This record gives sequence, structure tokens and C-alpha cells, in this order.
Amino acid sequence: MKETTKAIRIQTDRSQHNEHSTPLFLTSSFTFDDAGQGQALFNNEIEGNIYSRYSNPSVQEFIDKVCMYERMEAGFATASGMAAVFAGFAGHLQSGDHLVASNALFGSAHQIITQILPKWGIEYTYLESDAPEEEWDAAVKPNTKMVYLETPSNPGLALVDLEMVGRVAKKHDLIYYVDNCFATPVIQKPGDFGANLIVHSATKFMDGQGRVLGGVICGTEEIMEPIVFFCRHTGPAMSPFNAWVLSKSLETLNLRVDKHCENALKLAQSLEGLDGIKTVNYPFLDSHPQVALAKKQMNSGGALVTFDLEGGFERIVRFTQLLKIPSKTSNLGDSRTTITNPNTTTHSKVAQELKDKLGITEGLMRVSVGLEDIDDLIADFKQAIEGSK
Ligand SMILES: *Cc1c(COP(=O)(O)O)cnc(C)c1O
Repeated sequence: MKETTKAIRIQTDRSQHNEHSTPLFLTSSFTFDDAGQGQALFNNEIEGNIYSRYSNPSVQEFIDKVCMYERMEAGFATASGMAAVFAGFAGHLQSGDHLVASNALFGSAHQIITQILPKWGIEYTYLESDAPEEEWDAAVKPNTKMVYLETPSNPGLALVDLEMVGRVAKKHDLIYYVDNCFATPVIQKPGDFGANLIVHSATKFMDGQGRVLGGVICGTEEIMEPIVFFCRHTGPAMSPFNAWVLSKSLETLNLRVDKHCENALKLAQSLEGLDGIKTVNYPFLDSHPQVALAKKQMNSGGALVTFDLEGGFERIVRFTQLLKIPSKTSNLGDSRTTITNPNTTTHSKVAQELKDKLGITEGLMRVSVGLEDIDDLIADFKQAIEGSK
């Protein structure tokens, strides 16, 4: 069966009530038939649910769908994307280990790597997203245990060559850990390029409607084992309610992502060359410096478009006042188009030097293109650009 069918049909067993929609197991614990069965469950002699910090059928249904999409063997779902990102590090890295990562990362991932992991004696080396293979290779030290990256990156939409990093990870026998949130498994499957650990903020496109927080990490059975152990005992578990919402959302992931991408490409094309816009950045535009790589590892350009508006911050304020349809919010991956100025919001705490490297200019606007009618969106952007001159 195709993944679109599986995303709709993977389901927890029906209960005795024969409900049609997938059931929600909003319960903290599960009962034992008798003390003997309780003992067997705790001894791992039989499989079953004990307590929702460990496992829950609604949460498992969501995990099963994500593993199906990413072609991975096992997973764990968490209360937020960051809990999942952190679990991947915490499950594997120990004092004295070294991590190699691309420097174009989600803000909180950057904080974990530079502020939290060093407290436990875990060191890191950052590379530019477009660093060549020799640099990735040279960054690996005898104590390197893992490579970590995000592609496309937020908000620069810089790409990392997944296949090339896969070669480096394989050569040095490293855990190859990828945040695939921006692309979603509909657009890109890092596992095809050797990644053996993949993380998502389910808050974004997986929910797709801006309702719940969630995260999920999946990988090979062997790599997930210490991560599952870490999660079970430290407690970042996803709420069954959120898992139920997210599992329902995955039924429409392909449809939504296809439409997001179609709209985003049209918006990017219509903004390019407009008076008042310096540059438009979108992986599938011919002007994107890595368009060849984008077309190699992604099957469409994604939902995020950025552009650089001339005229300073006052123009940006006027522009956002005139813009009628998009929500001005830092979230992304929503059916509603959202827009933000990364320099003064999501990335305001990033050091100026790194901002310059990542292309976070004063005028940069990040748009997460939604599912509204594209002609309405284009007309709205044009009038706001024109009117804010
Ligand atoms: C939002 C996001 C995260 C963090 O997810 P939360 O659900 O907000 O904790 C991690 N990585 C990327 C790329 C994101 O966009």
C-alpha cells in the first residue's frame, strides 16, 4: 500500500464499541487482569500498556504513522519538538563526547548545543550549511559520536547535502541525526541518504492547524533503545489527546503539504522582481544558490518563503499593518499563512555575527504559506508592498 493510504488506515484496534473514528485513550494508567499479569508486564514477559509515561495506544498510533512515513523501525512521541530533539542528544551523548552540527539550526537547538550540553562536558563543532565534504570530514574527531543538521534551515532556507553528510557519517560510524521538520517526510526522506535518527516538531506541519504542541523522534530499533529508556524515565511523554489530534492530522498530511508547496512556489515567483523587494529565497526558485541540490533531495520546495524588503524596520511595520490575510505570528506550518520578521522575533537573541552568516537581515520576512486561495494571497502581498513604500 502507498503511504497516503497507510497514513489514513493505520489505526489502533477498534474497541468493542466499533467506533469508526480512531479512539482516544485518555488515561494515565492501564489495568491488569490480575497480579500475575501485572508481574509479567513489568518483567517484559508480555507486551502491553502499563502507564502513559511509557506507552499509550493513541500515542503509539501517531508514532506508527511517523515511522511509516520516515521508514524507521521505532519511535517515541514527546510533548514538544524540543523535548524530542533533546532526547536524541541525551539518549546517546555522554561526558567527553563530541558533536558535529551545521550552524543553521532552530534557535532552541542552538541553545541546547551551545549552553546545555557543554555543562555535561559534551563539546561541538559548527559548520556552515554549504561546507564541502572535506570540512565535514575534518571536523570529525576521535570522540565524535553524532552529526546533527536541519535542512532546509530556519529562516535562511539553506540546504545541507544529505547524501554527502551520509557518506561522512558512515565512514566514521556516527549517529546521523536530522531535524526534518521544515520539509516533512512528504517532501524529503533523510533515511534514504543514510540518516538513522530523525526528529520532528509535530507542532508544525504534522498538526498543520496550529492547535497542539508535539514532537516525535524515530530511528532504527538499536538507536532508539537508549532514547526510549531516557524518555520513559525522565517523562517528556506526549499527551494522548495531542497524539489523537496529530494522528487525525496525518490523514491529510500529503494533501496539505502538496497544496502548501504549490502556493509557496506561486507566491515566491510573483514576489521575485517586484519593486521594493531585494531578494526572494525559495529552494525551488532558479535563483536559489542550491536549487540543484534542492531538486536532488526534495520533491518540492516546501511551504516557507523568505524575502528581503527594502526601506528599514519602519517600512516593515507599515507593510505588516497593511497586510490583511496573513497572521503576524512566529509559528509556522499552519493552514493559515503566517509571517514574521526573524531579526526582531525568533532570532532576535542570535549574535549579530551569526545573523550575518545566516542571512538574517533587518528586512528579512519569513512567510509560511498557508492553504488560502493563492490569488487572494498574492494580491494582498502586492498591495501591502506597494502601499508601504
Ligand atoms: C518549531 C521547531 C522546533 C521545536 O519544536 P517545538 O514543538 O516548538 O518544541 C524544532 N525544529 C524546527 C525546525 C522547528 O521549526
